[in-house]
Amino acid sequence: MNILIIGGAGYIGSHVAREFLDRGYKVTVFDNLSSGLRENLFPEASFIHGDILLYQKLKEAMEGQEAAVYLAAFKAVGESMIKPEKYSLNNITGTVNLLNAASEAGLKYIIFSSSAAVYGEPAYLPIDEKHPVNPENYYGFTKLEIEKFLGWYDRLKGIRYASLRYFNAAGYDVKGRITGLEQNPANLIPVIMEAASGMRSELAIFGDDYDTPDGTCIRDYIHVNDLATGHALALDYIAKNNKSLTVNLGSETGSSVMEVLQTARRVTGKPIPSRMAGRRPGDPARLTASAKLARELLGWQPQYSDMETLINTSWKAYAREAGNSCTR
Ligand code: UDP
Repeated sequence: MNILIIGGAGYIGSHVAREFLDRGYKVTVFDNLSSGLRENLFPEASFIHGDILLYQKLKEAMEGQEAAVYLAAFKAVGESMIKPEKYSLNNITGTVNLLNAASEAGLKYIIFSSSAAVYGEPAYLPIDEKHPVNPENYYGFTKLEIEKFLGWYDRLKGIRYASLRYFNAAGYDVKGRITGLEQNPANLIPVIMEAASGMRSELAIFGDDYDTPDGTCIRDYIHVNDLATGHALALDYIAKNNKSLTVNLGSETGSSVMEVLQTARRVTGKPIPSRMAGRRPGDPARLTASAKLARELLGWQPQYSDMETLINTSWKAYAREAGNSCTR
């Protein structure tokens, strides 16, 4: 099957592209390289340097494709609250373009990178797909709106979709085939890795007065190779059943900021300086997934999402970049 990976030069997109290549798909990556990297492209995949806001180019890229993975969204929660216009244009206008191009080109399937941010403050844990959706930030709002667009184009145009609600994506390819580092990361594990490799001076811990055992926030970290497998299984499911799907992808395990930091100190052997900072607005104390639906419908089972592997695979990428020797 021919598959277009939109945003395929990015952190998650490159892992997804690798997964589909490994499964024998004919992969084309479409990316504007605003945050994606040429270094993340594979010689076996075709590459189109394009932007989802350029309709004609996107439509041409979709000709002859059966499926698309849609990962080309901005994703910085804090920034989305300050610059909603940027998120409206890329994430919402980009989606309208994408769906219109898909409909015109006769694309059958879309796999969409949604987010646990659609749920907002948890009413109960673990969060399953029946949990009410009430995003707390503009980024999460755009993801929820995109899900609604997908729902309408399914009904009206017969485009089947899988909306994958990622929890906290982390780690690097377990076989070390992806080496591009995210630029200006804001997420916990890359920030810790930058502090470990000397690319930044310290980690600021956003609050230690939460109602959790050590006072720091608990999140559900899911390895990016496990996420990538989820995309392939989701495409199999919607193609086989001719039916759309919305599922959580999470490890069902919670780790606190302190636990992540301690594992990172142990695995890297680096001191990783940290300082206590104030709470970051909009951070719930705990977020953990129920991934029962993905297990039952897709047969999906995370393999690499223990904290040790998440940190170990990340450190291999960062230690190399920082010119350190990596002993593990
Ligand atoms: N966090 C932190 N310092 C940082 C980045 C993140 O203490 O520099 C905390 C953040 O407050 C949250 C957890 O780490 O409790 C995960 O944050 P991240 O931004 O990685 O993902 P989110 O859960 O917000 O999607």
